[in-house]
Amino acid sequence: MKILVINCGSSSAKFQLFDIDTGDVLAKGNAERIGIDGKLTYKPAGKDEFVSTEPMPDHKVAVKMILDALVDKDHGVIADVSEIAAVGHRVLHGGEYYSDSVIVDDDVKAVIKKCFPLGPLHNPANLIGIEACESVLPAGTPQVAVFDTAFHMTMPPKAYTYALPYELSEKYSIRRYGFHGTSHRYVSKRVAEFLGRDYNSIKTITCHLGNGSSFAAVKNGKCVDTSMGLTPLAGICMGTRTGDIDPAIVPFLMKNENLTPDEMDTLLNKKSGVQGLSGVSSDFRDLEKAKNEGNERAALALEMFAYQGKKIIGSYAAAMEGVDVIVFTAGIGENTDKMRKAMCEGLEFMGVEFDDAANDGLRGKEAIISKPSSKVTVCVIPTNEELAIAQETEALVRK
Ligand code: ADP
Repeated sequence: MKILVINCGSSSAKFQLFDIDTGDVLAKGNAERIGIDGKLTYKPAGKDEFVSTEPMPDHKVAVKMILDALVDKDHGVIADVSEIAAVGHRVLHGGEYYSDSVIVDDDVKAVIKKCFPLGPLHNPANLIGIEACESVLPAGTPQVAVFDTAFHMTMPPKAYTYALPYELSEKYSIRRYGFHGTSHRYVSKRVAEFLGRDYNSIKTITCHLGNGSSFAAVKNGKCVDTSMGLTPLAGICMGTRTGDIDPAIVPFLMKNENLTPDEMDTLLNKKSGVQGLSGVSSDFRDLEKAKNEGNERAALALEMFAYQGKKIIGSYAAAMEGVDVIVFTAGIGENTDKMRKAMCEGLEFMGVEFDDAANDGLRGKEAIISKPSSKVTVCVIPTNEELAIAQETEALVRK
């Protein structure tokens, strides 16, 4: 079965075509600068990359160009678009409505629209992508929405409610939603499989550490807490985002620096985090280099990231009344042995015996990085959000 996965942004559409029976990516690419001029980068497996700069006035044209590339007689990978059994769409926000992926119908589209205020940058683009596929693919090709928030919908009210006036939270649907759900679900399931444990009877802490970073507490196969909140700004400090800070800092800075709400939002999301702290970069490779050259603020940024991560791990162990597995994933989690070690350092009191020999130099591979005698198993599991979306799409279509 062939599944197309699409991640639509306001001016781009990233895509991968999977043969889900083998897990192989048949082709992938990105349609960029939609509505500006247009650039399609297309890479069929085992063949050269192909770039087209035909105009792309809208997403419908972009999707049509992607499909044309997939069936092209020279660099195509399928004979006809009817071979695409379904399309899985990454959708940022499903609000409180969906705890799982769903086949798109009018109700689903209405919900995606209703959640525009919660995901103003992503949800409108996600819906445009769905509608573009509907209009270009053969009628009846299932479109599946895979929500970034869905996995976290099993959290109990004590984990997702903010201590604001209750009526205001209700009025604006303010609560913790959490993000990276597709990754947390995939990695927590995969690690259970990898360790030969029963997903439904272990306590796992998933640490997704990338440009955006979030943690999830997964107890017996259900997410019970996560570090991002109403928006992806909450939790640990990130590349350019503050993470959790004293909320009173917001009005303090707005008053004293004369900032508008939009300017404050930009400061919190784009000018802060390890970038703002170090003044060097949001990229952890640059920070490591700067630290080695004696840059104290870069060293502080790295130290803070590790410290905040460790505090979340400790708090989730308490929240679940124990932890069996800690798993690291995404750009930093998969590639940075030093950060994994720093986050686990000193956790012997809760049963973590870290294995330096297994961890040192390990990159992008599934592995156990705790000692065999460790009560808590620490692992690295590379995330694969596109494959997870394809698998969830396939499962729904087969149903
Ligand atoms: P995104 O959230 O954009 O999907 P990724 O999961 O790709 O991000 O993570 C990107 C981050 O991972 C980069 O900013 C970088 O800090 C870090 N990273 C990627 N590769 C390495 C590496 N080899 N060593 C250290 N850090 C890395």
